[in-house]
Amino acid sequence: MRPLEELTRPNIWALKPYSSARDEYSGNEAKVFLDANENPYNNPLNRYPDPLQKGLKARLAQIKGVAKENIFLGNGSDEAIDLAYRCFTRPGTDNVVAIEPTYGMYKVCADINNIEYRPVLLDQDFQIKSYKLLKACDKHTKLIWLCSPNNPTGNNLNRNEIVKTIECFDGLVIVDEAYSDFSQERPLRLEIDKYPNLIVLNTFSKAWGCAAIRLGMAFADKKIIDIFNKVKYPYNVNALTQKNALEALAEPYEVDKWIKIILLERSRMIDAFKLLPSCEKVYPTDANFFLAKMHDAQTIYDYLKSNGIIVRNRTHVSLCDDCLRITIGSKTENNELLAALRQY
Ligand code: PMP
Repeated sequence: MRPLEELTRPNIWALKPYSSARDEYSGNEAKVFLDANENPYNNPLNRYPDPLQKGLKARLAQIKGVAKENIFLGNGSDEAIDLAYRCFTRPGTDNVVAIEPTYGMYKVCADINNIEYRPVLLDQDFQIKSYKLLKACDKHTKLIWLCSPNNPTGNNLNRNEIVKTIECFDGLVIVDEAYSDFSQERPLRLEIDKYPNLIVLNTFSKAWGCAAIRLGMAFADKKIIDIFNKVKYPYNVNALTQKNALEALAEPYEVDKWIKIILLERSRMIDAFKLLPSCEKVYPTDANFFLAKMHDAQTIYDYLKSNGIIVRNRTHVSLCDDCLRITIGSKTENNELLAALRQY
């Protein structure tokens, strides 16, 4: 790995971050707060939230098996994706390498930040080869984007190839594990201590059932987390989100229950799709969705839409010709989709 100073955007390395009076306040000793120009009335929402979300991180550390200083929290994992560009890439000079197809925001954020985006096509079985990713890199490549289980293909990427990529690349590797709660594979976030150039992303939007509160996580070496914290907006995770997340974290068994039901529904849906005349193939999945190759995906997508059923049309995405991406919903929602497709 190149030194972190060399990987960081120079003005960000030199940045002196915004600091509030409460950043320096550590405990319960203060009883009067006249530092932040708040309204003293309208409890309990009148005060700014904890800028570093210490209570939430302490609880997350227990649940996720990662030390609290190795956790960054943001306004969805989309915030961490954007921050990775703003912290580690220089517009107009640097580039990033990413698997293709994958989650669209890696490219959108590259475009917003004026960073060259180099897609590397997955193999026909949607797998990566480390040497192909590394071959696409040059001295200006700062980040490699991986996603496992991958969106929209659904499969886990081969762990040996991920590890080889992390070990052989001298920049940062970001592995988006948004869907890892649905997979049997050991999460890579548990290995951040081994790899100083690894950033793992997680979210409350999927298995945790909290897409509305917008809370995403990045796990990495403390030096990387400190850079994210320097650049983020001071109060990027609002008080309601912090409170709701703590409530969700108090009931982790609920999440395990949902995951079990979703995985059972996933098998049922895949079996049913395989019997549909309109379905050519269902790809293997480790996520809460699956990719199905259809006989004319566009027409089926339009037909479903006219029946009030929205799925994700991926037919114009690389390697996904004629594919629809189907989220596993509730039993009722899934049955509605199947009933419509059986009538097609
Ligand atoms: N990563 C992946 C792979 C996703 O599919 C999504 C959302 N579809 C996200 C990140 C965004 O997650 P969040 O809601 O935490 O911003």
